[in-house]
Amino acid sequence: MNGFSYVGNELCVEQVPVGEIVRSVGSPAYIYSQKALSGSFSAYKEAFSGRKSVIAYAMKANGNLRVLSLLGGLGAGADVVSGGELFRARKAGIPAEKIVFAGVGKTASEMREALDAGILMFNVESPMELDMLSRVAVSMGKSAPVALRVNPDVDPKTHPYISTGLKKSKFGIPADRALSEYLRAASLPGINVVGIHQHIGSQLTQIDPFRDAFDKMTAFARVLAKNGIRVAWLDIGGGLGIRYGEETPPTPGNIGTEILSRLEGLDVGIILEPGRSIVGNAGILVTEVLYVKETEVKTFYIADAGMNDLIRPALYGAYHDLWPVKRREGEGKKGDLVGPVCETGDFLVQDRMIPPVEPGDLLAVMSAGAYGFAMASNYNARPRPPEVLVSKDRFTVIRARESYEDMVRGETVA
Ligand SMILES: *Cc1c(COP(=O)(O)O)cnc(C)c1O
Repeated sequence: MNGFSYVGNELCVEQVPVGEIVRSVGSPAYIYSQKALSGSFSAYKEAFSGRKSVIAYAMKANGNLRVLSLLGGLGAGADVVSGGELFRARKAGIPAEKIVFAGVGKTASEMREALDAGILMFNVESPMELDMLSRVAVSMGKSAPVALRVNPDVDPKTHPYISTGLKKSKFGIPADRALSEYLRAASLPGINVVGIHQHIGSQLTQIDPFRDAFDKMTAFARVLAKNGIRVAWLDIGGGLGIRYGEETPPTPGNIGTEILSRLEGLDVGIILEPGRSIVGNAGILVTEVLYVKETEVKTFYIADAGMNDLIRPALYGAYHDLWPVKRREGEGKKGDLVGPVCETGDFLVQDRMIPPVEPGDLLAVMSAGAYGFAMASNYNARPRPPEVLVSKDRFTVIRARESYEDMVRGETVA
């Protein structure tokens, strides 16, 4: 993994030993590599450099302000899915004219916030939402730039929880109703139709679903043009997968080649919404092994990080590689790496080889930069871990570990 390697037997992030960071900030901790972050963003930038394009980083994958400002500084926009994310993106300095806003349940006040900010585009997901946006925009004397999220009914061949473009999905507007809804949108006050949006799922490791969905999108753009609606933007969403274990996903360059070769006769800019593929492989979760517990059926390695810190294994049965922070001689052992949370689903690794470790050793849960900290919670009254950014031979705490006091803020006893 770019940015993470061994020097001798010690795991380093860029040039900083993980052990040194943990001595300073404690365990567990999220650690990100700046080189890996900027490298994955630059790959997208290069892939689409020949075309008017906005790379709207899907910040739900990792919304840390420093991560956002770093990507913003490289030219990223943001794909936001709530007023809170819009607030974060603006605070990190991402310009409103590079922000797109998706999600099936935008409230009127979130719409107002986004209209006030002057975002690039609302990705509208239902007829009722469109009506609400029209009313809100008219009441503010503004016009809302809109794309409708069209559900292309393409199987992304990924985990069902992160498939979003199938007919049965809650997302978007069914393809067979899209034209009539576009015609209606074009006639509504306060609505300015500027684009088409789709996003078919996450952790896609094959190129065909992208290709199929994009073919449907360009065909639809041509139908719209015949009906007098010329869009300025095709927003192809995010979803490109990363390598967690044995996957070999396409690169941003592969996607770029496919997409750019299919734009003949269309005078449109491209918006992309990559999340996982920007940050996923740029981060790790480091955890300390507290105890080893042998039972008749299994060996449990009990760590100080659990499902509240990283929920992906519990939620999706997700696979994360496990690297020892200090490599030891000898054989590993099959077992589970579990957390301290009072749930049987609280595991980071299940029934796999665990590298040779002793209590007190640190393990790195790899590829944890996306949907890691972002999905962390305070369940079991556990403070969320710190986030650390490494650049070359220096590290910076970009989010402090939560304190007990942080966790009770806003509550009252009486
Ligand atoms: C989650 C999401 C993304 C990002 O997906 P990744 O798989 O992280 O790239 C992009 N667009 C929308 C609308 C999303 O909901």
